[in-house]
Amino acid sequence: MPVWICATCANQYPEATSPPEVCAICADERQWVPPTGQRWTTAEELAAAGHRGEVREVEPGLLGVGAEPPVAIGQRALLVQTAEGNLLWDPPGYLDERSLQAVGDAGGLTAVAASHPHFYGTIATWSDRFDAEVLLAEPDAGWLARPPRRPPRTWSGTLEVLPGVTLVQCGGHFPGSSVVHWAEGAGGAGALLSGDTIFVTPGEDRVTFVRSAPNRLPLPERAVRRVVEAVRPYRFDRIYGGWWEPVLRRDARAVVERSAERYVQWLRGEAGEE
Ligand SMILES: [Zn+2]
Ligand SMILES: [Zn+2]
Repeated sequence: MPVWICATCANQYPEATSPPEVCAICADERQWVPPTGQRWTTAEELAAAGHRGEVREVEPGLLGVGAEPPVAIGQRALLVQTAEGNLLWDPPGYLDERSLQAVGDAGGLTAVAASHPHFYGTIATWSDRFDAEVLLAEPDAGWLARPPRRPPRTWSGTLEVLPGVTLVQCGGHFPGSSVVHWAEGAGGAGALLSGDTIFVTPGEDRVTFVRSAPNRLPLPERAVRRVVEAVRPYRFDRIYGGWWEPVLRRDARAVVERSAERYVQWLRGEAGEE
């Protein structure tokens, strides 16, 4: 019996002879179901279609693990490596033996977590392979459709997973939407791994905040302010979003503050609509 994978978001559903009627994550207003109807796939089908694991060093101590061509939403994971163990963040929708091997060679996994439920897809596979703890933000834990063997741990607020590697709940896109603060990142200046909790935009010079990217839904002012307040205590100069690019490469703290102010001006109708 196959593990059913939603072709649109790559979330996985437990082994069964037939897939569910619809993917619960895609039926939600933050995602979408194709106009032609729900589509399911399997890891075997994706491999046969030519998808391959893609592993690249992003910066020293940070390994990117994605797929080529990308699957579904197309996120690539980040493996944060420390002397005490490794965290895999925002697992990709597809992985193969090459991806597992690369993470094994880099020291394996202590924990696996995702910024929000759209990226839960392969979380159980990683956990099962490395006996890694799955960390789920408490308000979003119910979205995990395929549980790992080892029971997940829920958390809220902040959680230091490894020394200098802290999960920070920001809310916004999902109530449990979170980022990783990596103190050693960006050559010691600090980095955030943000998924789409803080969304880096194509010019790599600003960020935005969304309820839904594909459905173009904004967030209210109080939610935007909460995201900014959640990361304000941390030192960081760089933000890695959920994809290989774009990356906000420098001055990220100031950019987050500036972008949030501009966003709120637009929400309030105070932006000057020339
Ligand atoms: Zn889906
Ligand atoms: Zn999302």
